[in-house]
Parts: sequence; structure tokens; C-alpha cells
Amino acid sequence: MPDSLGPALETPLFERIAIIGLGLIGSSIARVARRKNLAGTIVAIDQSLQVRSRVAELGIADEVAASAGDGVRNADLVILCVPVGANASVAKEIGASLKPGSIVSDVGSVKASVVANVVPHLPEGVSFVPAHPVAGTEFSGPDAGFATLFKNRWCILTPPDGTPPDAIARVREFWAAMGSNVEIMTPTHHDLVLGITSHLPHLIAFNIVGTAAALEEGTKSEVIKFSAGGFRDFTRIAASDPTMWRDVFLHNKEAVLEMLDRFNADLNALVKMIKEGDGPGLHDRFSRTRAIRRSIIEQGQETATADFGRLGPDATASQ
Ligand code: NAP
Repeated sequence: MPDSLGPALETPLFERIAIIGLGLIGSSIARVARRKNLAGTIVAIDQSLQVRSRVAELGIADEVAASAGDGVRNADLVILCVPVGANASVAKEIGASLKPGSIVSDVGSVKASVVANVVPHLPEGVSFVPAHPVAGTEFSGPDAGFATLFKNRWCILTPPDGTPPDAIARVREFWAAMGSNVEIMTPTHHDLVLGITSHLPHLIAFNIVGTAAALEEGTKSEVIKFSAGGFRDFTRIAASDPTMWRDVFLHNKEAVLEMLDRFNADLNALVKMIKEGDGPGLHDRFSRTRAIRRSIIEQGQETATADFGRLGPDATASQ
């Protein structure tokens, strides 16, 4: 069916794919794979009975399995879509069942620790091509997914040294078919870049919303009732999945702490400007940050709409 995702492929890219973890990201991958005929058979694996039943109801997979070890058998591509902290145990569970010549990938928001935790469990002849689709919302679970989630978004691949080029090429082709722009970088560089663009902003949002909530409780103030746009935007980010974000901070500790040091230094500079009444300094700083948002919009990674364009113009055509 031709739609905003483009026409379905005549021949699937993979005969059989297994997706482990059918939440926001896993179920979105299943939806696109189905709609664009990227896989002959889609196997959905999840530890939660509720999720498995819902996936069956939604009809976004051909087979549904509870056991990762059984579900990945004969799969040509296995994608781990579980919280970053669960990757090691899932990799251990599937290691012995993986088909020789198959490819394992993931979607974790942190890459160096995923490589360190997954690679030791993979048998000889199985390639690991880690991926991070830089796309998401604050919602979780199979109902939160939608087929246009990855469209025009970046997907970063971080293959470890020695990964066969043809495995990288196949995963690149898969994400391009998802509608993403694909870039390759080292896991460490990925973690540093995402530390500042994604992880630190989330930490700041968790903190500011927590501070406001405590203030509201302590002083019986009306912080939440009269929350202005700035605060509301932070609450959307701070509503993100607690398990996912706990794992991100535990697994990208060094990069986040490094970025936090820089952040604190810049915050102290702003504090000084306010204390000293340095109007031109503040104006100059705010003008530079305004220009950054404009350039992100110009590059098509954001829209100027009030919901910050998280779901994009195709959100209603999502299922
Ligand atoms: P989600 O909506 O919470 O879905 C995760 C699913 O994995 C849940 O159904 C969960 O079941 C299941 N699961 C957890 N441990 C499992 C295990 N050991 N075996 C099988 N299933 C398991 O999470 P998500 O937002 O899709 O995130 C998944 C991954 O994508 C994370 O690594 C995250 O870093 C990455 N990511 C997320 C975003 C985002 O914006 N959300 C963006 C890019 C990348 P239970 O509910 O029973 O735990």
C-alpha cells in the first residue's frame, strides 16, 4: 500500500526477523516492517503476557513468542528493543539459538555499554550491528508505536571493529527503508554526542519538574495550575519512561558526568551575569541559543508547532 512511507518492497530484505521487546520502538519497527514488506516473517518476543496479547490483537507480527531463546531460532535479523539494562541477559538467553550468519542489532540509547554487554554472548559467525534510532516520544508500550516514527529521523549505527561490511550494509538498508537517515560512528562518540543532545536535557527536565513538584507541595503554591509553556515543555520530557532513563544514566555515566560538568560551568556563568546585572551578556547568550533552534527547524529535525513536532505531520496515520 503506497503511503507517506513509500511503496512496499517487492522482495523482503530479510526472510525472518525477530523483535525482542514490543514497546514504543519495537512495535514501531514491526509496523513499518509489515507495511513496507521488509521481512517475510515477523516474530514478536516479549516477556509480558499483556504485551504479547496486545501485539496479537494489533496484528503487527506473524508470530508471537514468550521465550527469546525459542523466538530467535532461524531469524536472519534479531533486534533487541528492551531497556538498555536488559540487553546482557537477553543476549545471554539467545546466544545459543542464533542462526549462523545471522545479524543481531539493537535500538538502545547508549552504545558503548551495549557493545560490551552483548558481544561476549554472541557465537562465532553472528554479526552485531548496534543501532540507535534517534526518534521517540514520552509514551511506552505497543499502543504507543506508530509507523512514521522513524521517518526523516537519524538512525546511528555503531558497529564494533571487525564487523563484516555486508552486515553493516544490510542494517543500513533496513533503517533506510524505515525512512531514516543513517549515519555511522563509534560507540564512544555516539555516547558523548547523545549525552549532550538527549541525556542531559532529560536529566534537567527530571530535575526541574521534581523541584517544582516539591515546591508545590511544600508551599502550597500554584506552580502546576499556572504552569507556563516553558515548564509544560519540560513536563513532557520528564514524563518519559523511568526504566528506560534509569538505564540510560547508569550505562552512560562518564559522558553524562562530563557534560554535567560543562553544564554547571555555563550555569555558573549565567548566575554571575544575573548577579552583576549583565544585560548585554544575557541577551547575547539567549540570541545564540535562539539561532540553534532555528537551524534545527531548518534542517527538518523539528517543526515550529507548539507540541514541538514530536509526532510529526503524519501522526494521525500512525497505526
Ligand atoms: P518500552 O515501550 O518500555 O518497551 C520495552 C518492552 O521490552 C516492554 O514491553 C518490556 O516488557 C520489554 N522487555 C523488557 N525486558 C525484557 C526482556 N528481558 N525480554 C523481553 N522483553 C523485555 O521501551 P521503548 O521506549 O520501546 O525502549 C526500548 C529501547 O529503545 C530502549 O533500549 C531505549 O533506550 C531505546 N530507545 C527509546 C527511545 C524512546 O524515546 N522511547 C528512543 C530511541 C531508543 P515489560 O513492560 O514487561 O518490562
